[in-house]
Amino acid sequence: MSTQEKIDKFVINSYSRAPITFVRGEGAKLWDEAGKEYQDFLAGIAVCALGHSHPMVVKAISEQAARLTHVSNLFYTEPQAAVAELLVNNSFAEKVFFCNSGAEANEGAIKLSRLWGKEKLNGAYTIITMQRSFHGRTMATLSATGQERIQKGFAPLVPNFVHVPYGDIDALTAAMDQQVCAIMLEPVLGEGGVLLPPAGYMRKVRELCDKSGALMILDEIQTGLGRTGQLFAHQHDGVEPDIMTLAKALANGLPAGALCAGERVADLFKPGMHASTFGAGPVVMAAAQAVLETMLAPGFMLDVQTKGRQLLHGLQDLTIKHPDRLKQARGLGLMAALEFYENADRAQAAMWEKGFIINRTQETMLRFLPPLVITAEQIDSMLKALDQVLEMGE
Ligand code: PLP
Repeated sequence: MSTQEKIDKFVINSYSRAPITFVRGEGAKLWDEAGKEYQDFLAGIAVCALGHSHPMVVKAISEQAARLTHVSNLFYTEPQAAVAELLVNNSFAEKVFFCNSGAEANEGAIKLSRLWGKEKLNGAYTIITMQRSFHGRTMATLSATGQERIQKGFAPLVPNFVHVPYGDIDALTAAMDQQVCAIMLEPVLGEGGVLLPPAGYMRKVRELCDKSGALMILDEIQTGLGRTGQLFAHQHDGVEPDIMTLAKALANGLPAGALCAGERVADLFKPGMHASTFGAGPVVMAAAQAVLETMLAPGFMLDVQTKGRQLLHGLQDLTIKHPDRLKQARGLGLMAALEFYENADRAQAAMWEKGFIINRTQETMLRFLPPLVITAEQIDSMLKALDQVLEMGE
């Protein structure tokens, strides 16, 4: 049986997979089992920000694995201390809780908001989230998610999430009442199709929270850690949340999540209230330390911004050249989408065929989330290939 046959037979069929089996990666390149080379414009869905087999990450993981792999959070470990310090020193956060995934980080944020509501807001427990948002697949996070297709089949959902249109400050203002303990949103909707809010929106959300006492939670699981050309996307707006959740790129492919808590909420969890067996394991934290130290090096974010502009301008040029097929190009840093008038499946398949890994999201959009170490030449070659695919009518 082939690898694909085995997975189809033995793994629960909850994913729609492309018929490609990857066996190796380096930088922004991948190779399948037949030796075909691909340029990676997905990075494992915004995870391998430093690309595949980055030497610093490989070194950190191998050395730490040979030294100490796991002892639990009943004890102290050095890599956890290093990563917590790096996150706190480079963000608004006062303290961090570590876990293993985005959904788990958001679960922590939801629990913390409930505590905040109980202790400071007379028991308020409504969390406002956004239509078209994505916050994860656990019961609470899929209830927070503003997409019916993610929730279908799993009712009754966790109460009390109220969904409002993304970017609409009037709708958000109207939804604020005494029961609201938090507003939770992505700085850019990722799974929703790389949608950016109008200028000034984040600041107004902050103001609403300040006025009511509700917490501002930013889900930076996809936008965080350099993806948009700043370490965190909210830094573009000069606005600080009370809680930020991270995962995906944090350990460049090893499972890591973090809940970063600002001053007001940093000490709400008390011993015994929240935990995660694997959270902040030494190997994962060694990888995260390598990721953060690499991203914090001078010039790293500037380079992401430059390549992000190249990608977006290239995509915008394609919308001008193919106005009958393409509706819009959007993006911030190395997070971009190209919206088609029709289903983008054929274009995605044609790009795979040409050796470019690009992902379709929301039926009509191609989404670009390359490793941040992608080169200008690789971006150029992808844009040329995409132009050819569009010319061919794919
Ligand atoms: N939040 C956002 C914005 C995401 O993009 C994702 C995953 O795509 C998640 C949460 C869930 O993360 P995970 O799959 O690690 O649970």
